[in-house]
Amino acid sequence: MSNDLQLSLFDNSQNTSFVTDSIPTNVKIPIPAGTYQNMEQIGEHCNRCHRCELGNSRTHAVIGRGNPQASILIVGEAPGQNEDETGLPFVGRSGKLLDKILESVELSAETDVFIANVIKCRPPKNRPPTAKEIEACKPYLLEQIRILDPKIILLTGATALKGLLSDKRPISKIRGQWIEWEGRLCMPIFHPSYLLRNPSREPETPKWFMWQDMQAIKAKLDEFKTVS
Ligand code: URA
Repeated sequence: MSNDLQLSLFDNSQNTSFVTDSIPTNVKIPIPAGTYQNMEQIGEHCNRCHRCELGNSRTHAVIGRGNPQASILIVGEAPGQNEDETGLPFVGRSGKLLDKILESVELSAETDVFIANVIKCRPPKNRPPTAKEIEACKPYLLEQIRILDPKIILLTGATALKGLLSDKRPISKIRGQWIEWEGRLCMPIFHPSYLLRNPSREPETPKWFMWQDMQAIKAKLDEFKTVS
């Protein structure tokens, strides 16, 4: 299929109905902002996507869970086995911990946040996503952000930080800092799976830092609520 034809499939200017027949399979062909109107459309496309090799091995593309109206978007790395099987992000051990972390500052995973990943399909043996896979999948995340319009984006771990902001600094150096991006406030935080490997709650340990970060996030959210 020629590039022009693939692009024209996304030209909705004359036809307002959603075009489901083709996804540009060449990563070099962008998926323009405004292609999707809702998460369901993104999910439909992702489940038929072959912009990278992971499309060959997935059971389900994993789009997100939570409240699409929420002010907070949490971005993880990639689906694991449980997520691939269920089609939902963060449903394994690290997901349970993430839910508990949210509860600790009285945030509900169902109503107060939307949870998604940098890439939507499971990498074999849960290896980290490659730069090519992230590039192929990034338009979907950008569309999710455009549609959700979150005030706050939490980037869990280095892949989320690098995948969205192209920031290669280690999480341990910049966790807890607010970074402005496209008019939104982003905060890098530790990935829950890292906290599972580091269970101590002593001061200055990862779990302790996470608790500080969650309190700062809750305070910022409350600030937004008072202003609006
Ligand atoms: N499950 C996800 O959906 N994302 C992660 O980053 C880890 C586990």
